[in-house]
Amino acid sequence: MSDLSELYQEILLEHNSKPRNFYKLEEADRSADGFNPLCGDKIALYLKLDGDIISEVGFQGSGCAISRASASMLTQSVKGQSVERAEEIFGAFHRMLTEPGEEPDYDALEDLESLAGVAEFPTRIKCAILAWHTLKAALEGTQESATTE
Ligand code: ZN
Repeated sequence: MSDLSELYQEILLEHNSKPRNFYKLEEADRSADGFNPLCGDKIALYLKLDGDIISEVGFQGSGCAISRASASMLTQSVKGQSVERAEEIFGAFHRMLTEPGEEPDYDALEDLESLAGVAEFPTRIKCAILAWHTLKAALEGTQESATTE
């Protein structure tokens, strides 16, 4: 195992054991549920919008380490950002996982870069992307649950 993947592992485990913004936002403007039937990961995401800015974000749920760590990193990276920027970060994250040969957009990714190794495990990509599909569903205000299927 390279030093880099050890570092990534550390970030991932740290987010999993101490997830950021792990709470239900009582006064959420938007919320959505997400489910990944392949792994059994469940997530509920809550957003507070201040105009076009995601001012607060919280999540709850249960699932594997990757789904939890990814949701935790998501809340950290989109909090305080515009909806447009959040979509750019999602785009960068999606590309990192589905086009691993391409140079990632490190500015957008920050800690999310630590999930790059997931690209080698197609079944786990759904674990990593679940929170992001749920974010999209919440932003679009669709009442339906997001699913990775
Ligand atoms: Zn999972």
